[in-house]
Amino acid sequence: MATQQPEFEHPKKAFGWAARDTSGLLSPFNFSRRETGEKDVAFKVLYCGICHSDLHIVENDFGMSTYPLVPGHEIVGVVTEVGSRVHKFKVGDKVGVGCLIDSCHSCQNCVENLENYCPQLILSQGGAKHKDGTTTYGGYSDSMIADEHFVIGIPDEFPLDAAAPLLCAGITVYSPLKYFGLDKPGLHIGVVGLGGLGHLAVKFAKAFGANVTVISTSPNKQKEALENLGVDSFLISHDQDQLQAAIGTLDGIIDTVSASHSLLPLIGLLKSHGKLIMVGLPDKTLELPLIPLIKGRKIIAGSMIGGIKETQEMMEFAAEHNVKPDIEVIPIDYVNKAMERLHKADVKYRFVIDIGNSLKPSF
Ligand code: NAP
Ligand code: ZN
Ligand code: ZN
Repeated sequence: MATQQPEFEHPKKAFGWAARDTSGLLSPFNFSRRETGEKDVAFKVLYCGICHSDLHIVENDFGMSTYPLVPGHEIVGVVTEVGSRVHKFKVGDKVGVGCLIDSCHSCQNCVENLENYCPQLILSQGGAKHKDGTTTYGGYSDSMIADEHFVIGIPDEFPLDAAAPLLCAGITVYSPLKYFGLDKPGLHIGVVGLGGLGHLAVKFAKAFGANVTVISTSPNKQKEALENLGVDSFLISHDQDQLQAAIGTLDGIIDTVSASHSLLPLIGLLKSHGKLIMVGLPDKTLELPLIPLIKGRKIIAGSMIGGIKETQEMMEFAAEHNVKPDIEVIPIDYVNKAMERLHKADVKYRFVIDIGNSLKPSF
């Protein structure tokens, strides 16, 4: 079991930035990674996206974090070493790892390529434990290693920095759009919260041929959303007249909001049989108003990231249809400031850390 210090758990030195407590403040941190096993792919991390979940986790919003904690689960880079039984990747390949780093491989969910719903799922960050009892450390770090099954290939033509947010934000919105049948051309799709997940929900929904309505708290995002993101209509969530005028117009809604908010107006925006899909993770329980839900046989559901096979499919779809996140690339020493800005929804639309050029190991 992991009784040793992080620097000595494994033979390979690693370096990253970690939070030490619920202040969430990140600072340089030495730890270690395992030797490359026969099914492992090791890679040099070049970029890592900052997901709002990183912020929830470093501040222990869900009460499950353990410190020191290296966040980061939108991790991309170039393969440096592969084990003798690795078939999918070779040294030099562009690859990534998202939220999932391991699972049981044998339960019904795993067999059906839904490792994301495996009861023994191991997350790539947040103080989760590998099967050997050592701690998982995320991608705000110089190197990564994973069983090849959990490694995603990145198409050569896709820029690595832009590929990073697809590994969590991208798959988290792509998967429910597909699963709930919200990927058919001509549907009217709502997206609540225009942040990292939300702007990718807009882009995937547009690529599927939808008419897209954004429901946002931020009037300052309206102009750009309509002009550059291709959003068809933009509703301010506190403007009752706008909401009233749009009642009963949407076939489905992807709700990406990271904080408490009312579901009542959103259920009202749905047509009969419309589907409200929750992917955002407010740290407080939300109230569910039942009368507007039962009137019109509406559905409310949840969805969490996606399986590995579907993540690879999403990556290829994104490359083929030019679905690229809008990113602000930052050096690692800006990360605490970036977290502060993320708290205030002040990013268009995803921070990506330039690990390759800014993280300087200090062994
Ligand atoms: P983000 O970039 O911070 O975007 C969240 C957006 O929610 C903000 O840009 C803002 O959009 C809106 N918002 C923020 N505070 C709000 C409030 N108090 N009331 C109403 N709207 C508010 O975050 P993200 O990285 O997209 O992640 C969004 C959520 O999804 C987080 O809770 C994250 O943990 C969760 N998540 C879930 C999964 C999953 O598997 N289900 C995967 C990844 C992330 P406007 O300015 O447009 O209002
Ligand atoms: Zn995430
Ligand atoms: Zn399983």
